[in-house]
Amino acid sequence: MVLVRVKKLAKIKVQGVVQGVGFRPFVYRLAGECNLKGWVRNTSGSVEIEVEGGEKTLKSFLNDLETKAPPMACIEKVETTFHPPKGYTKFKIWDSLSQEGRYQLVSPDIATCEDCKRELFSPADRRFRYPFTNCTNCGPRFTIIEDIPYDRPKTTMRKFEMCPECQQEYNNPLDRRFHAQPNACPKCGPGLELVGGGGNPIKVNDVFKAISKLLKAGRILAIRGLGGFHLACDATNEEAVNLLRARKRRPSKPLAVMVGTIEEIENHCFISSEERKLLQSPQCPIVLLRWKHSSSNISPAVAPNLKYLGVMLPYTPLHHILLRETGIPLVMTSGNISEEPIAKDNDEALRRLRGIADYFVLHNRDIYARYDDSVYVVEGVPQAMRRARSYAPYPIFLPFRAKQILACGAEMKNTFCLTKDEHAFLSQHIGDMENEETLDHFENTIELYQKLFRIEPEIVAYDMHPEYLSTKYALQAGLEQGLRPTPVQHHHAHIVSCLVENKVEGPVIGVAFDGTGYGTDGTIWGGEFLLSDWRSCQRVGHLEYVPLLGGVAAIRRPYRMALSYLCTLLGEDFSLEGLPVGKLNPVELEIIKQQLKRGVNSPLTSSAGRLFDAVSALAGVREEIDYEAQAAIELEMLVPDKLGEEKSYPFSIVKDQGIRVVKLEELFSTMVQDVRHQIPVPVISLKFHNAMAQIIAEMCKLVAKESGITQVALSGGVFQNRLLLKLATSALHKNNLSVITHHLVPCNDGGISLGQAVIANFVSI
Ligand code: ZN
Ligand code: ZN
Ligand code: FE
Repeated sequence: MVLVRVKKLAKIKVQGVVQGVGFRPFVYRLAGECNLKGWVRNTSGSVEIEVEGGEKTLKSFLNDLETKAPPMACIEKVETTFHPPKGYTKFKIWDSLSQEGRYQLVSPDIATCEDCKRELFSPADRRFRYPFTNCTNCGPRFTIIEDIPYDRPKTTMRKFEMCPECQQEYNNPLDRRFHAQPNACPKCGPGLELVGGGGNPIKVNDVFKAISKLLKAGRILAIRGLGGFHLACDATNEEAVNLLRARKRRPSKPLAVMVGTIEEIENHCFISSEERKLLQSPQCPIVLLRWKHSSSNISPAVAPNLKYLGVMLPYTPLHHILLRETGIPLVMTSGNISEEPIAKDNDEALRRLRGIADYFVLHNRDIYARYDDSVYVVEGVPQAMRRARSYAPYPIFLPFRAKQILACGAEMKNTFCLTKDEHAFLSQHIGDMENEETLDHFENTIELYQKLFRIEPEIVAYDMHPEYLSTKYALQAGLEQGLRPTPVQHHHAHIVSCLVENKVEGPVIGVAFDGTGYGTDGTIWGGEFLLSDWRSCQRVGHLEYVPLLGGVAAIRRPYRMALSYLCTLLGEDFSLEGLPVGKLNPVELEIIKQQLKRGVNSPLTSSAGRLFDAVSALAGVREEIDYEAQAAIELEMLVPDKLGEEKSYPFSIVKDQGIRVVKLEELFSTMVQDVRHQIPVPVISLKFHNAMAQIIAEMCKLVAKESGITQVALSGGVFQNRLLLKLATSALHKNNLSVITHHLVPCNDGGISLGQAVIANFVSI
């Protein structure tokens, strides 16, 4: 019998992150191995492949295409159709094709791969100690891309002409650097420059030796990295750390540290296997690790009063060489003053960071998109606290097809979100929208995302707070561009962001605990229980209202919140004797009491964040703060890891006009007794955390009984409190309620824009 081998042509379209990750050379090699003929090319919308060969071979090719794809590729969809063969005789890589209106997912920047690291430290290699080494498996992507398709002329690398050796690598489909757009070497690529505090160039033989010497001498350096400048200093040098804090005007907010190797991190912190995996992942984020205070020589001034230290490994060749050369842990904090965006351009840094940095380390590979370091915690699984470098602009996948929407986010920790098809492009962390620079960053980044992903929004979603800069921007953009404006309530957006990343439609019982959010009744919400799904939201319960004494002044000075609770719940003439807040200046105390009586500049709030502040001040932990949530964080940090007895504080829940309210009078009167009896503060803190967990469980139980809904979503910045999250989750489980929480998207206001976009998709007509 004669066996007839039937040849077929397969037309294949691959979507996902498949450009800038070595996908075409992978296809080329795979086709070669299978002896298939045809071609592969990038288009604006996908990677297209035509291959012909025997049916069996095509089948195994298609299988390998998905299972053996390069590490950074992320395949979303593969479409294949079969046709009669065309008689190809070779396999070729075709030029990229630009298509109107089509878009590609853009790869985030990726930490240096093992192969590049090896070359970096091989004296014989032509890239030995070259700080801009990269390949198709690693290096800059999003930060250098100006438009799609992702080709060198559309990146900031276009000004460097490749030398013959680099060009050869670039052209060779079997080379690790085939079509690596940022490919470079010491001969043809970007370089470093050391500059003095006044902008004067400093000639040195070896930049890294010079930097290392300066850092070891306690100097502060501004170092241009991947997505912007870091301010760096020796993390073990208390004096240097304090100097950096003073100059940066950041008195106590924790600073991130970069440590050379995972073994070295173990000298400073405890690392679980999940944390280790995340630290060493291609994303290489900052991970908050349990600090070994007794053995670590990192200065306590790096993260005062905290149990956790934000640590990352080097993620660019520059960082690898720097850390190896210095051999010490380095503070690596965003190059900015207080809350401004991170500086990214050389001249910008020289202008804005003058007076902070003693020296500047500049380079000439321009950064197109600003990109802060991402921050994660691992509580069983990784949870994003700040989503930026190496995560954005990879989308959150929606369980439905979305309209084209721009959601402008909130005020603090702003991100925006643009939706199209099944993609929610949640921007990288933009920052606190309280200055001109951040607003510029916000606007420029929206423009970039719209261009990269070819999005023309028809709807603009925004927070109901009329004073947010993001709201003002949304209203103006709505007018100018004819977008349909859709206001979204802050806590509804929190809950829906949690729902959608878990691919849950609801309804659920949403617990939204945060610092501040504009309510629909003219008060400031923040301790909310909502029956919520993608479309609608009904407030079914909240913490009881107290006056926010003096508005923002109450946020900066938690003792005002303590007084507000005490005087409102326990009586105006309540004696402060024996309490830390009783030591207040009598004049200020009198003013506060008058304010309370008259209700001047004291809007009502049900904020859970403010309740934590009040307790922190009442227990004498922190009466004034200099970074957001400091009082609550320090209160949490006091609780020992090994929890003692499950004591708690009493509270009650009453129904008032159909809404359940958590009454806190007993909680405060009992706590006051504890403080007066000098019960140790860690005990008070644990009892309070237990009470909060029980409040959540009790309220959800009541709502579940009435509504029949048994799934609970936890969202809002208060759930960055790992102790509360753990206690609340287990209390809910004990009541047979299921719980969903955040992983991909921050539970804080960094996640708001995703919720806004989803809600607007369903309510806007
Ligand atoms: Zn590499
Ligand atoms: Zn070269
Ligand atoms: Fe919030």
